[in-house]
Amino acid sequence: MEWDYQTLLQKAEDARRNAYAPYSHYAVGACLIGQNGSLYTGCNVENASSGCCICAERTAVAKAVAEGVHAFGAIAVVGGETGEQGDFCPPCGICRQVLAEFCPKDMPVVLRRDGKPFALTMGDLLPYAFDLET
Ligand SMILES: [Zn+2]
Repeated sequence: MEWDYQTLLQKAEDARRNAYAPYSHYAVGACLIGQNGSLYTGCNVENASSGCCICAERTAVAKAVAEGVHAFGAIAVVGGETGEQGDFCPPCGICRQVLAEFCPKDMPVVLRRDGKPFALTMGDLLPYAFDLET
């Protein structure tokens, strides 16, 4: 099944509502398309010990990998203050590296900017990713 960017952003927004962000009050949602056509969503999950926090993107990757999916077609990410509509929220450096492990450089990373889809690629976000071929 083909997924359009608006639908992916809406799925990311839906996942964002489940964010556990009592410390930052900054909720993030992600929606990752697996090579099998399935969607894997994630939200940020914070912790009293800040080093235990995990981002929405890595939550989605972990869900997919736990189900045996290692290849992806696109990811959508939205973030913002809890209770408001999510908007521009590019993945953090750790998430870029984790995504680079599984995602091709031309894979779309769909963000929302001023309420509209804004697509980049993994190569745009992390042009010199560390990998086993580096
Ligand atoms: Zn992150």
